[in-house]
Formats: sequence, C-alpha cells, structure tokens
Amino acid sequence: MYAKMRITSPNHAEANAITKIARSNNSSNGATMYVTASPCIECSKLIIQAGIKRVVYSEKYRLEDGIELLKRAGIEVVFISMDNEKLKMES
Ligand SMILES: [Zn+2]
Repeated sequence: MYAKMRITSPNHAEANAITKIARSNNSSNGATMYVTASPCIECSKLIIQAGIKRVVYSEKYRLEDGIELLKRAGIEVVFISMDNEKLKMES
C-alpha cells in the first residue's frame, strides 16, 4: 500500500503505532487501540484503514473531528477519564 499521508507532527502516536503493526507480523484488524489524547482526523483515517474496531482515549482534544469520523465509520469510541482511580499506576 502506498501511503500518501504526510505526518508532520511528532505527536501522532497512533499513526506510528499503526505503521509499526503493519510492518510486523501482527494484525491491527479488529484490535482495540488505547491512546492518551483523542486522535486527530488524519490518525482517525489510518485507524479506520487499519481495521481497528475500538478506540479508548482519556484526554479530550480541542477538535473532536477525529472522534466523529471514527463513530461514523462504526468504530466504538470510549472515553475514560484519567482522574479515574482505577487507572492510576501503582509505583
Ligand atoms: Zn494524529
């Protein structure tokens, strides 16, 4: 597949993760993706193409375009607040 998308920001962790999975023997098809901030529109397009079925995020981004796109594509989008005690890492 020839990717025409240009990633200009280093903050697109979703795109990096999907690219890494694509290069490995693993498949992102049907997978759940966990991200910190809600994915941007470009990353959301990649998430849809990768066949990811569920996205879990914990920080609301200013623009919700990406989230809206995911929902329209039938992907389950779950917001979990970082304030949730259950999510705190034990150190
Ligand atoms: Zn992005």
